[in-house]
Amino acid sequence: MVTEPVRILVVGGGYVGMYTALHLQRLLKAELRSGTAEITVVTPDPYMTYQPFLPEAAAGNISPRHVVVPLRRVLDRCHIVIGEAESIDHAKRTATITTLATDEEGTGPVQLTYDELVIAPGSISRTLPVPGLADYAIGFKTVEEAIGLRNHVIEQMDIASSTRDPAIRDAALTFVFVGGGYAGVEALGELEDMARYTARYYHNIKPQDLKWVLVEATGRILPEVGEDMGKYTVRELRARNIDVRLETRLESCEDRVAVLSDGTRLPTRTVVWTAGVKPAPVLARTDLPLDERGRIRCTARLGVEGVEHAWAAGDAAAVPDLTADAPGRECAPNAQHAVRQTKVLAENLVASLRGRPLKDYAHKYAGSVASLGLHKGVAHVYGRKLKGYPAWFMHRAYHLSRVPTFNRKARVLAEWTLAGLFKREIVSLGSLEHPRAEFELAAGPKPPEPQDEASKGGTADGGAKSD
Ligand SMILES: Cc1cc2nc3c(=O)[nH]c(=O)nc-3n(C[C@H](O)[C@H](O)[C@H](O)COP(=O)(O)OP(=O)(O)OC[C@H]3O[C@@H](n4cnc5c(N)ncnc54)[C@H](O)[C@@H]3O)c2cc1C
Repeated sequence: MVTEPVRILVVGGGYVGMYTALHLQRLLKAELRSGTAEITVVTPDPYMTYQPFLPEAAAGNISPRHVVVPLRRVLDRCHIVIGEAESIDHAKRTATITTLATDEEGTGPVQLTYDELVIAPGSISRTLPVPGLADYAIGFKTVEEAIGLRNHVIEQMDIASSTRDPAIRDAALTFVFVGGGYAGVEALGELEDMARYTARYYHNIKPQDLKWVLVEATGRILPEVGEDMGKYTVRELRARNIDVRLETRLESCEDRVAVLSDGTRLPTRTVVWTAGVKPAPVLARTDLPLDERGRIRCTARLGVEGVEHAWAAGDAAAVPDLTADAPGRECAPNAQHAVRQTKVLAENLVASLRGRPLKDYAHKYAGSVASLGLHKGVAHVYGRKLKGYPAWFMHRAYHLSRVPTFNRKARVLAEWTLAGLFKREIVSLGSLEHPRAEFELAAGPKPPEPQDEASKGGTADGGAKSD
């Protein structure tokens, strides 16, 4: 008798998607080989991004290629589909997927059926209705944003260096970051450090000409490292001439002027928005139960509440924190939980297939490490507080141990070692974002389209050409 294979669909190829698929392909090795199980991963990019390295990538300490993990190589026993889940009808065990070929085929999205669903689309930047935000600001969640921001900062220094207009120069050299969590603080710390170093190669820009502003709505920054270390970080940043504004909000950033709630107006061409995350929009287009924040309601076993054959973890999931002092708390959206949850999720999924008992996810948050630039950092891990060089060293050692694959570890270590021996990279490769610009210039202006000619003629003649 031929039995149908168990089809497992993983939506998302980030921390949760990649690690869950990795555990599953190990646990189901025999089934995958015999064809009695199939794992499909649907994700928009062919790589997983190791987000904690984005600030170092922005600073030029790590190449963009080494911040990402190629899914096809790591998940060599899974089917990788580069695309996006548009919606999921779990009652019918069907996901509607758009792929890179969808537009060209003109046949519309494809329907993928499955038996077991792992939903892990993570989160996106949580924006507020701040005027000008959508037009002028940039987020800091993807490798494209991190590298784009690096190029942009260096380009602003080039603009400032070549203008005679003091207003243009001031705006170019003012950088506003909104949100004092680790993404915002690390991104600002690394970029300020890089820009201060880079300034030595400009004849007319001094480090003190650069104005860096961190805007945070609450009274503290870096809650992940605890109150004392958060206060230390504020002091450390202020000592570097960074303007840290607590209990302040960005009210608007229209026409390249950042207006703060304390009345300050800052002409600037750079607003970086890192003020929190919200669950991926696809979750609202599923028939799975969501909490008031739009995350999937999960049990401590990482199954979706009240639903069979559906599993979730990471930023997209509301998972009870069994180690919290008070009941009713949920795990915070961070990589520390995401990675550990994937192991329990994969083991429980396989146990459910084999009719074995499931186990609960319980991990007490160990604390956090954050880098504030080269040789500067802050850490609060297992009750131990560290600052300065030891914290920075711990940050690097921890993330080196965590970045997936031996290949990536070796490459990142090699880059750090070389960076220690030679000078820092200070070039902006912003033109990489427009690779055809040079050739378009060489090829000359585009010949006008026939209808353009016709309409031009119509205007010149002063009348419509109907025949
Ligand atoms: C700059 C930065 C620094 C950080 N530093 C730390 C740190 O030091 N320590 C720490 O613990 N945490 C850190 N975090 C947080 C951590 O990276 C996240 O908590 C973690 O990535 C969550 O994993 P996830 O799998 O839920 O989401 P992600 O890793 O974001 O993965 C989600 C995946 O789903 C894909 N996806 C989205 N929508 C769809 C769809 N419709 N269909 C298919 N696929 C989809 C996305 O493209 C992505 O590949 C940092 C985050 C940032 C942005």
